Amino acid sequence: MADVIRELLARDEAGGQVEVEGWLRTARHSKQVTFLEVHDGSAFAGIQAVANPEVPGFEEVVRGLSTGCAVRVQGELVDSPGKGQRFEIHAGQVERVGGVDDDYPLQKKRHGFEFLRTIAHLRPRTNTLGAVLRVRNAAAAAVHEFFQERGFVYLQAPIVTLADAEGAGEMFRVTTLPAGDPPREEGGAVDFGRDFFGSEAHLTVSGQLEAEIGALALSRVYTFGPTFRAENSNTSRHLAEFWMIEPEVAFCELPGLMDLAEEFLKAVFARVLERAPDDMEFFEARIAPGILETLEHVVKSPFERMTYDDAVRILEQAKQSFEFPVRWGVDLQSEHERYLTEQAVGRPVIVTDYPKDIKAFYMYVNDDGRTVRAMDVLVPKVGEIIGGSQREHRHDVLLQRMRDLEIPSEDYWWYLDLRRFGTAPHGGFGLGFERIVQFMTGMANIRDVIPFPRVPGYAEF
Ligand code: ATP
Ligand code: MN
Repeated sequence: MADVIRELLARDEAGGQVEVEGWLRTARHSKQVTFLEVHDGSAFAGIQAVANPEVPGFEEVVRGLSTGCAVRVQGELVDSPGKGQRFEIHAGQVERVGGVDDDYPLQKKRHGFEFLRTIAHLRPRTNTLGAVLRVRNAAAAAVHEFFQERGFVYLQAPIVTLADAEGAGEMFRVTTLPAGDPPREEGGAVDFGRDFFGSEAHLTVSGQLEAEIGALALSRVYTFGPTFRAENSNTSRHLAEFWMIEPEVAFCELPGLMDLAEEFLKAVFARVLERAPDDMEFFEARIAPGILETLEHVVKSPFERMTYDDAVRILEQAKQSFEFPVRWGVDLQSEHERYLTEQAVGRPVIVTDYPKDIKAFYMYVNDDGRTVRAMDVLVPKVGEIIGGSQREHRHDVLLQRMRDLEIPSEDYWWYLDLRRFGTAPHGGFGLGFERIVQFMTGMANIRDVIPFPRVPGYAEF
């Protein structure tokens, strides 16, 4: 196999024969030599190969190379006289592995992200998408490392599910019934009893309920997998298919969860900064000036912790006015969240103990009877980045909550069982992986931080 460009660029000194394979960002043909900029995607930078007329096939092969061609280059690694690069390859052999037709859409100019989405099969070859995909990879590895180092078991939650996770979002139905003529019950309703799973099935919107099963056996688990929301929201922060990370911990109450969430964000950001410095420099320079400082600030600062009561008080006293007025009992909008983290404290904030009426049925009810042990982590520029809670582990309280909210308890028989057989305080939180990548890269649109975005009206590639 060929040498990896990332490793070549990290060498201490030049010297020796090397071989690289990749795609040409540019081919510059001057009078006597051709300069080839070869990228293999292993690093933000490529490597320059310099070919002169002694290279076999110089006229027939090398002179015909252009942007986009796949090539194999062998030669000596030498110190580069040019600026901006330490090494280059003094080519001995150049092979054209794959040519490009004239209509190759990625020419050496800046393309709009919207246009690049229409060529998602080629956009990973651009600077920005390449950097996004490497940062995404570094972040995914950091997520696993963080949990593995702390004894968490990686649990694969199902993708097809009969539960609906209390309406976390609109769901996609999974069915093999004929769309035009499904079997019907006597009243005319579709007879899902005759569907593939013998019941109405959907793509999961969250792995939390299954993660609770895992935690109440393995103590510490996390999921990291695809989740789906059929919400018709054409925003820069919503996808129909996204990846969610959901740790769940037994024998753990709200303070332990807050510590975990804070450590988690810091560890992931720190590792990405360490592992993908060149890609991060690019985002700083070209996409979001200031992003490095923001991330380093988050890594270094202790997160502020405040209750929802306090948060509402701060917002009511704010000098600025909000589009959505604040009073106790309303859910916080992103303008409020940003005010709290950016203006009120200037650091990430964890808000806890929200009114029970705006939160899900499974959250632990506080002694005051009006709030639940929920927590949201708010960060500058984004607002909420993590949402979680201690779960209601008391059978009678949970059952009463479900009755009050008219949630059919028979659908959740196994969830209730967990509260009858060795129940224990437990909790967890969830965060969208793409939202983290978006925060770290400063990319404006979530569709540009996932390789193949799925959104209303669009699932090409
Ligand atoms: P939002 O208010 O942004 O729609 P939510 O309250 O619906 O989020 P949750 O149900 O708590 O979100 O989901 C957990 C996490 O999953 C969110 O904090 C967010 O990071 C992420 N998330 C939710 N919906 C989407 C989506 N459609 N696309 C990408 N990430 C999402
Ligand atoms: Mn939502």
